[in-house]
Amino acid sequence: MSDTVLVLNAGSSSIKFRAFDAVTERLLLRGQIEGLYTAARFRASDAGGASLGEHQWPAGTPLGHDRAIAFLVEFLRGQRGSQRLAAVGHRVVHGGLTYAQPVRVTPAVLAELARLSPLAPLHQPHNLKTIEVVAQTQRDLPQVACFDTAFHRTHSELTQAYALPPSITAHGVRRYGFHGLSYEYIAGVLPLFDARAAAGRTVVAHLGNGSSACALVGGRSVASTMGFTAVEGLPMGTRSGSLDPGVILYLMNELKLSVRAIEQLIYEQSGLLGVSGVSSDMRALLASDDPRARFAIDLYVYRIGREIGSLAAAAQGLDALVFTAGIGENAVLIRQRVCEQAAWLGVRLDAAANAAGGPRISSADSPVAVWVIPTDEESMIARHTRDLLAAAGSAGG
Ligand code: ADP
Repeated sequence: MSDTVLVLNAGSSSIKFRAFDAVTERLLLRGQIEGLYTAARFRASDAGGASLGEHQWPAGTPLGHDRAIAFLVEFLRGQRGSQRLAAVGHRVVHGGLTYAQPVRVTPAVLAELARLSPLAPLHQPHNLKTIEVVAQTQRDLPQVACFDTAFHRTHSELTQAYALPPSITAHGVRRYGFHGLSYEYIAGVLPLFDARAAAGRTVVAHLGNGSSACALVGGRSVASTMGFTAVEGLPMGTRSGSLDPGVILYLMNELKLSVRAIEQLIYEQSGLLGVSGVSSDMRALLASDDPRARFAIDLYVYRIGREIGSLAAAAQGLDALVFTAGIGENAVLIRQRVCEQAAWLGVRLDAAANAAGGPRISSADSPVAVWVIPTDEESMIARHTRDLLAAAGSAGG
């Protein structure tokens, strides 16, 4: 009998899952339940993409996290054959100052993570709810929390600081950085692509629905565009990215927007969607000839260019630029335009290599190497889960 590690990535309206062989790390199946609390739909496929099952819940019978997990556990039981579910690894957005490493979840850990919910109110409660539901139904199953913040715990005091008085920063108001599991994965595989960059200074641009960038020096994170929350930095699918804090005050005082309305504005109604009025999806914007869609792309590229300069300053130079996530891995035009913005740093693109998708897309004489490297946060979580439990002597593999 072999062991399986289940990886869960729970959001407010969806739960994405993957199952890996605990020993070989081979992907066994993947899928998601989306439309929680509205019109839920389940899909699962094997590693090759062949469908393993689909299910749609009738409208008017909203599905919550608890019933979604129960459905998933039952589905996995039917799929497993001789495999034993050995552990569940969770993506948890916030590990605060305490967690620089993944941790096995206990009731005490869960209580501590719940105290961080106000720092990530749109994500953390759903991550924790999923852990709770699994614990209720599978009491003895080991669960491991892997944090989006953990990889950035190497940041210096200076990098983490906002210029605020201690009476405020004492509440944990500091820069944390997110997308850490993606950056950790890229830092782990970068030596296979580029030994010089892995030992030197690299900016990784994680460009997906959520977008951020991170400076690595010798494989360690030294700076990130995201700070206290995952809304700082680059414009994203629906998030605004950095704003002058004065904008928020103006929205409150002059436009009389409520806190909830401002939250919705900056998390759900801004970014590519808000600027274009067309879509949050880069494919739709690239296909559109609406001038507002073009402006949204222009602004996205411009802001990425500025942040690459800022991160190169934090790293004190640039040996390589890496593109990853949905847009970074697939959008040839966005990569081309970002590289044009970064030409002053010594970035020279090889247009044919870029069109072909890389992995190396810089010209042979480019002082800065440019790479396209697919990220894999879920396999990072599976590895952490397996390693942590193996170290504790409680998992197979
Ligand atoms: P998430 O942050 O939800 O994990 P992804 O990393 O999957 O998001 O990225 C989603 C984004 O990637 C969307 O804006 C989507 O349009 C974009 N994307 C995916 N494939 C392509 C493509 N072929 N060309 C341009 N953009 C793409």
